[in-house]
Amino acid sequence: METSDRRTEAIGHVYRGTFVHSTPHTALQVLEDALVGVDTGGKIAFIGKGQELNKLSQTFGFCPSEVTQLTQDEFFMPGMVDTHIHAPQYSYAGTALDMPLLQWLDTYTFPVEARFKDLEFAKSVYTQIVKRTLRNGTTTACYFATIHTDASLVLGQIANELGQRALVGKVCMDRNKSVKHYKETTQESQEETDRFIAELLNKKYPLVKPVVTPRFALSCTEALLEQLGAIAKNNNLHIQSHISENTEEVKLVKELFPESESYTDVYHKCNLLTNKTVMAHGCYLSDEELDLFRETGAALSHCPNSNTSLCSGTLNVRNVLKHKVKLGLGTDVAGGYSASMLDAVRRAQDVSKFLTIQDPGHDTLTFEEVFRLATLGGSQALSLDTQTGNFEVGKDFDALRVNVAAADGPIDLTQKVEPKILLEKFLNLGDDRNIVEVFVAGRKVVPFTE
Ligand SMILES: [Zn+2]
Repeated sequence: METSDRRTEAIGHVYRGTFVHSTPHTALQVLEDALVGVDTGGKIAFIGKGQELNKLSQTFGFCPSEVTQLTQDEFFMPGMVDTHIHAPQYSYAGTALDMPLLQWLDTYTFPVEARFKDLEFAKSVYTQIVKRTLRNGTTTACYFATIHTDASLVLGQIANELGQRALVGKVCMDRNKSVKHYKETTQESQEETDRFIAELLNKKYPLVKPVVTPRFALSCTEALLEQLGAIAKNNNLHIQSHISENTEEVKLVKELFPESESYTDVYHKCNLLTNKTVMAHGCYLSDEELDLFRETGAALSHCPNSNTSLCSGTLNVRNVLKHKVKLGLGTDVAGGYSASMLDAVRRAQDVSKFLTIQDPGHDTLTFEEVFRLATLGGSQALSLDTQTGNFEVGKDFDALRVNVAAADGPIDLTQKVEPKILLEKFLNLGDDRNIVEVFVAGRKVVPFTE
């Protein structure tokens, strides 16, 4: 039995059944007939065994008859962590996948993002994406918004109201040749970032925090990157951006920043690589650049759907893990067409298998490893692993109640199967119909209460 030293809160809920999660040492740990107590503050108070029910009920002062019992087709798993998603791009998700990155940005992304100056439009799209991701099991999301401060604040407000844990970034960009009205001056970008951070922090949302967000090196002058590095440092904030996604981009960064030794060095010189940084993609990073990620504690977000959909590249996750760089998964809506992290799990396995097809010596990722990337790995990549990512006493209860045999769901169980197989089936075949309840910090956020 594992229990908390500090028992200041009363027990709010106790669940009994199968729990699956990852630890730093084990990609998949299955706890059968477990008893998990969640306190009224939303934190895991104890993790014990079903046979310890009477003892635990006395120690923690709950009534055994109030325990919620899962069925044999159900399990709890940690909520999934989307380490990279563009909330405004949800408005065209599932379309516009016919161009490489830089042309795609000019043709589809910038004109759409420019519309988010309209707060009503922003509110409508942002409500849809937060609801859609929550329903699909994303309990933590690291969002890009747009350059518009007030609309970005609306995204933070919606995440808070619907109960999602979120990092929200007002996008910064003072370079844009193609859509001239969709950019800021360097000074505006800095001042509006300061205002965004101050106003969002001032709301004191318990689970929603600002993240400093230079779009990527090609959209920012060095002066802006330097200022954003300083803002993040002075406020001890998270940082997110993109790196080394496609070959044309990598080449242009080299031309635009001739003084820098590498793409990674462009950010490093501006103090943008810290242990609270997450960079999307990294398909073309050299071993030296990966070493710099590890040394600075910066993380990568692997976005396999996007990398394939925009024909950007194939990240070798095994090599990233070998370099001990923190790594999570991202949907990268809408370069990635699905907002569901289950899709990211499947596409990550696909990409790893493509690498094995090309090189039979490649060590293919197992589904257990990909499960860890979607949960604990993501929380580590966002430096939120003291709060979420797996089931540990003292962490917040961020969890999905999964019923693999949900009525009208996509999975048929033909026989009784062990919990590991239930998880594998859910990851490969399941969808939101199987996710019967979603909890963030102990609060039930799905099904929605109107
Ligand atoms: Zn992106």
